[in-house]
Amino acid sequence: MKVTEHIKNAKKTLFSFEILPPLKGTSIESIYNSLDPLMEFNPPFIDVTYHREEYVYKKRKDGLLERRSVRKRPGTVGICAAIMNKYNVDTVPHIICGGFNQEETENALIDLDFLGVDNVLVLRGDPIKSETYFTPEEGGHSYASELLQQVDGMNKGIYLDEELKNSAPTDFCIGVAGYPEKHFEAPNMRSDIHFLKKKVEAGADYIVTQMFFDNQQYFDFVNLCRENDINIPIIPGLKPVSTNKQLTLLPQRFHLNMPNPLVDEVLKCKTNEQVRQVGVEWAIQQTKELIEFGAPCIHFYTMGKSDNVQKIVGTFS
Ligand code: FAD
Repeated sequence: MKVTEHIKNAKKTLFSFEILPPLKGTSIESIYNSLDPLMEFNPPFIDVTYHREEYVYKKRKDGLLERRSVRKRPGTVGICAAIMNKYNVDTVPHIICGGFNQEETENALIDLDFLGVDNVLVLRGDPIKSETYFTPEEGGHSYASELLQQVDGMNKGIYLDEELKNSAPTDFCIGVAGYPEKHFEAPNMRSDIHFLKKKVEAGADYIVTQMFFDNQQYFDFVNLCRENDINIPIIPGLKPVSTNKQLTLLPQRFHLNMPNPLVDEVLKCKTNEQVRQVGVEWAIQQTKELIEFGAPCIHFYTMGKSDNVQKIVGTFS
């Protein structure tokens, strides 16, 4: 079922989860181990992230370095199929522009359609570590809005080969990313909202936000979207803090601010066990306020560990 149908049918705020494919060489049991404790909450859908290749340097026998492309977390499509099969729950694979040309994208979408996946989260992807700026694949897309047009086209039966006649239309519900604290490359919020609106005009059905720790950021973002005639559901994304290091890692990686009271509480902790507890309490408070605000669904970034998310969602069940 589509994410938007879940939202339409819901009588209260839903809770959804996002997982990462495990590192290559790790069995799928690790996914089940982190999802099993969350299934009691009947999540309407589970997102599975996509991770493109990275370049690593390996030392050769002759002492020279060899540059190799590796994908450390493959398996997004397979994990979606496995989760649907095991738990009978909808999945949302993330699809990105980076590393794909349009034909590869089309073929991936055909696979997803054949597997019975009803939703995709359409993203651009970040620049890879060796790039300063995002560089599209030759024959690929530069922005999420372009990838979205391709998915929307397939939903209308338009494939890349113009000679294909009577092509079966797909029927994907399309999610996109939104940034309450602005995307890091956008010169200002007005510009970012302008391009978010382009994604909506190109056929996006719902928005999932980047994680934030101050709910006011989300409330302001929703209001700004509504003022700009962006009227699709906006799902807030939450990540409970779980280690001391995340005080620097999360702002660095996701370009966000952390409120003083949260930072102060984490700094008082002597162990990461204590930080986890602070993170749980903070996220419970955020969840409470987001429900009161009327958020359609709250999306938890589990990052492979679910005990903290279980405590948070358990408070509301
Ligand atoms: P876009 O919407 O294309 O925007 C990128 C930037 O370009 C923005 O600054 C925007 O304002 C600007 N822009 C957009 N269109 C134009 C235009 N036509 N002209 C000029 N500027 C423009 N990354 C992964 O690799 N895998 C994942 O699974 C993944 N999941 C994510 C899930 C969520 C909920 C979120 C919020 C992010 C996720 N990301 C993921 C990260 C995401 O790929 C990065 O944040 C990326 O830098 C931007 O992606 P986007 O889809 O928002 O890009």
